[in-house]
Amino acid sequence: MLANQIAAGEVVERPSSVVKELLENAVDAGATRIQLDIERGGTRLIRITDDGHGIERDQLELALARHATSKIQYTDDLKAIHTLGFRGEALASISSVARLSLSSKASNSASDAAGWSAIAQGQDMAVELQPRPMPVGTIVEVRDLFFNTPARQKFLRAERTEYVHIEETLKRVALASSQVAFTLKHNGKVTKRIPAAQSPEQQKQRIGSIVSNRFLSQALHLDTRIDSLRLWGWLSRPEHHQNSNLSQYVFVNGRAVRDRTLNHAIRQSYQDLLPTGRVPAYVLYLELDAEQVDVNVHPTKHEVRFSDARQVHDFISRAVAEALQPQNE
Ligand code: ADP
Ligand code: MG
Repeated sequence: MLANQIAAGEVVERPSSVVKELLENAVDAGATRIQLDIERGGTRLIRITDDGHGIERDQLELALARHATSKIQYTDDLKAIHTLGFRGEALASISSVARLSLSSKASNSASDAAGWSAIAQGQDMAVELQPRPMPVGTIVEVRDLFFNTPARQKFLRAERTEYVHIEETLKRVALASSQVAFTLKHNGKVTKRIPAAQSPEQQKQRIGSIVSNRFLSQALHLDTRIDSLRLWGWLSRPEHHQNSNLSQYVFVNGRAVRDRTLNHAIRQSYQDLLPTGRVPAYVLYLELDAEQVDVNVHPTKHEVRFSDARQVHDFISRAVAEALQPQNE
């Protein structure tokens, strides 16, 4: 319990951190539809319903245990992560600082069978299982976040602020997973609907509706490959600069990251083209071999380490600089 709470300190900073972990789990489960229900900025309720492959009854308890992950089997798998999760920490951490229930019906269960709900309770987090009628997929409900950690509770901001963080988290996950449809409800009202994109044209539209149509309508498109590296996406033209680094999104192999190497490389290419204090907007996807990037740097997995950071840096700044050349206008 205590170890879980300490780990929770690193993983669960605020409601949006819970949302991030649960959304990533749903994406990892191959969901095509994910519904997010939030009450009171996520402090009262965060419920995520997905139509992914689900969890078998006898695996439910394990899913709540610390360091239990079904996503990697051997230490060597850590060298090439293909899923968003892999540390097996999130559910255990969240259930140590909130009332968590995990309900699931596995895709390989009989169609008339019920799903199962698991709730970890008490000091020893004993898991209780109950049948729950539901379609194939998983429902995670997190209530009363930080009810038992008053120190954390104090850091919670106004409902509106926590909600905005959740919306931002959803944007990042949605930008990374164009094949998934998302719905967000806050206090019972639908506040966001993001459909799945089937074609590149739909994907472009989807990015516009998530980030801003104004950004996308003026943005430059880029798609560059060198060896095993590929960078694609959209960048603002130098004359359409902004003054805050909102609308700067970078994804590495489908994972939203905040990475110095990448941001530096992009900024460098814009350097002499922007007035001081002004910054570009971009949605960029970097793809490279999973072996070339280490995502196991920090529990929140926002940071990555490249085996050849210099090569990545140079590739990016060159690709961006080329896209910004006047002949591309
Ligand atoms: P990790 O994602 O790092 O493996 P988590 O604590 O987030 O660890 O989840 C633990 C395990 O629970 C996962 O490895 C997975 O097997 C299972 N799980 C969690 N959420 C889902 C979901 N939405 N659908 C299917 N399985 C899930
Ligand atoms: Mg996870």
